[in-house]
Amino acid sequence: MVKQTIQIFARVKPTVRKQQQGIYSIDEDEKLTPSLEIILPRDLADGFVNNKRESYRFKFQRIFDQDAKQETIFENIAKPVAESVLAGYNGTIFAYGQTGSGKTFTITGGAERYSDRGIIPRTLSYIFEQLQKDSSKIYTTHISYLEIYNECGYDLLDPRHEASSLEDLPKVTVLEDPDQNIHLKNLSLHQAATEEEALNLLFLGDTNRMIAETPMNQASTRSHCIFTIHLSSKEPGSATVRHAKLHLVDLAGSERVAKTGVGGQLLTEAKYINLSLHYLEQVIIALSEKHRSHIPYRNSMMTSVLRDSLGGNCMTTMIATLSLEKRNIDESISTCRFAQRVALIKNEAVLNEEIDPKLMIIRLQKEIQELKDELAIVTGEQRTEALTEAELLQLEKLITSFLEDQDPESKLEVGTDMRKIHHCFHYLKKLLNDKKIHRQSTAPSENKDQNCQEPLKEEEYKKLRDILQQRDNEINILVNMLKKEKKKAQDALHLSSVDRSQLSHGQSSPFPPGNPDGPKTLPFSASTQALDSSTSPYRSSLLHRKTGMREEMSLGRQEAFEIFKRDHADSVTIEDNKQILKQRFAEAKALGESINEARSKIGRLKEEITQRHVQQVALGISENIPVPSMPDQLEEKLRSQLEEEKRRYKTMFARLKALKVEIEHLQLLMDKAKVKLQKEFEAWWAKEATSLQVNSPAVTPSNHVKPFPQMSEAQHERSQPLSNKSIPERPVSSVPLTGDSQTDSDILAFIKARHNILQRTGFQ
Ligand code: ADP
Ligand code: MG
Repeated sequence: MVKQTIQIFARVKPTVRKQQQGIYSIDEDEKLTPSLEIILPRDLADGFVNNKRESYRFKFQRIFDQDAKQETIFENIAKPVAESVLAGYNGTIFAYGQTGSGKTFTITGGAERYSDRGIIPRTLSYIFEQLQKDSSKIYTTHISYLEIYNECGYDLLDPRHEASSLEDLPKVTVLEDPDQNIHLKNLSLHQAATEEEALNLLFLGDTNRMIAETPMNQASTRSHCIFTIHLSSKEPGSATVRHAKLHLVDLAGSERVAKTGVGGQLLTEAKYINLSLHYLEQVIIALSEKHRSHIPYRNSMMTSVLRDSLGGNCMTTMIATLSLEKRNIDESISTCRFAQRVALIKNEAVLNEEIDPKLMIIRLQKEIQELKDELAIVTGEQRTEALTEAELLQLEKLITSFLEDQDPESKLEVGTDMRKIHHCFHYLKKLLNDKKIHRQSTAPSENKDQNCQEPLKEEEYKKLRDILQQRDNEINILVNMLKKEKKKAQDALHLSSVDRSQLSHGQSSPFPPGNPDGPKTLPFSASTQALDSSTSPYRSSLLHRKTGMREEMSLGRQEAFEIFKRDHADSVTIEDNKQILKQRFAEAKALGESINEARSKIGRLKEEITQRHVQQVALGISENIPVPSMPDQLEEKLRSQLEEEKRRYKTMFARLKALKVEIEHLQLLMDKAKVKLQKEFEAWWAKEATSLQVNSPAVTPSNHVKPFPQMSEAQHERSQPLSNKSIPERPVSSVPLTGDSQTDSDILAFIKARHNILQRTGFQ
């Protein structure tokens, strides 16, 4: 692949009057890129061109002054392109400039002198010369010649027509395939085996063009002509074909319609005579701007046809033709400005290779025949398609005797005939399979023998035994695990039934209907939910597994846990973290919203800048104002806003990232604390349950219930005075008793324990 920007050259047409020469200068310092300076005469600077700059400087790859010969132009501009076309790349050379600036002279040449012949005939001559020299490849050359006038394509080489007007010529239309490749329907391709044939086609086309032109349509100034050399090459015997196209383009005059305002005022409006040049400019602008995804190629036929030449698979060169006379200053400046934009366009030329299936088949057929011939020479016999019956029989006999031969050195000799070798293998395979089937059908009776006979079988048996052992072990482990799990479940069941039997009656709720304490369990689950809602699904399920026993808790235990949790030293940390987490979530949410706003604002600003830019360019075109020389304040403002917004976006994004890390960290901390709390509660509860069991069924003074071990010193101190406070005990009679002394005593014990807890924590 060759990556290259479009190469731009300038050519200045000789002027008639010598005194006009002072309006431009060429700076050709060898170290620097050559530049062309156009100097505005004072009278023009004061009025005609409405900004006051006195000179304009434009850079070109090379600048060819008035005395440049056609030969020099060809050598420096066209020859390198022709060379890359010969190498298999697409190439385009187009001339751009106002009418009379020398486009046709440069591309096709002058009509008078041989030495005046232009790029097309010289390139044809060069290409055919090279093709003749290169005998390593087979080349095919075709020519097409297309004229585009008023968005219509005409085939200038149609042999069936004697054109008297452009409309008589066959109309060419553009077709686009799903891969966005352009195909020109009705454009004839003519093979040219020699330079002469190709030149004849050029002249036929030029003549058709001339005949078809009338003073009315001014085709030569208002139409584009694309002369294309299609070159195919392939190495002898290869099925890979290379295709390359060279477009030599003579564009319509780039001059603009000038409307003079009332009283011979300044130019108020100037537009391209040619709409398709306007579209060409649009394409060039789009291509020269970074990040433009849509390029309006389809707007005109010319840009569709030259699609590959502009920002595509092509090596493209532009020649800006300039007629640097005083009256043409503005046109010359716009030609140069256009060239500067064109120079920004990057192309990527690739080799266009394809495999010709027909050629491939022919090649393979040839190869097969050659191999067959070679084989016949080696074996000394001509092969037929298949072996005869007799040959097959003969072979099978050979195989049988080979197999029966007890001599270990015996050989099966069938010669170098691959068909015979293959048959031998097939026959042997068949024999082997037959034997296998036979063995299987007689297997059971032979089993015993095999086991003791073959050492290999012994090894296999050992292996299987090992595997069996391993599986046994695995099963044992799994059974053990299952047992443990079952035991755990049973323990839990037992524990809860102990709880229940101690603290409640039967399997029903520990709180009989109407128990005023019942509803208190609700805030517990609600707060748990609130706590868990902040955790990720993964984490919450993990946590759930760890704290799953809570679900199996009796309501009494749940309530005790609630109180335990509240008075636990860690609960302060959990609560704090919960608050911070809530804040961070809110902050993250707000940040996310702001980030989205900033993002859409950036999008809007970018859009505004593009629109503004397009407006400015349009203004430049219509008023001949050099766009880059006028810093647009609004655009500047929009750009600085854009920068500011981008900065804001970045800052917020960084903050959000930091927040995410913080949130995740906090969540992990909380999960850990919750698991710890649960564990400690379980330990405490178990202890309490045992001690209750010991003291049951008598309702004993409550002071044997140990305070929560996790209670901080401060909390403990705080709860101390409260515990000394005389708290009216809930009358036992207010609890509806069951009448079952065991259960009732359980209930009483529970109430006592509960009261104790509440008293210590100042809950009541
Ligand atoms: P365009 O195609 O841009 O309208 P032409 O190529 O027809 O311009 O040139 C206009 C006239 O100027 C023609 O008569 C042409 O022979 C002459 N001319 C253009 N360039 C040169 C040049 N470099 N040397 C001599 N004559 C030229
Ligand atoms: Mg011309």
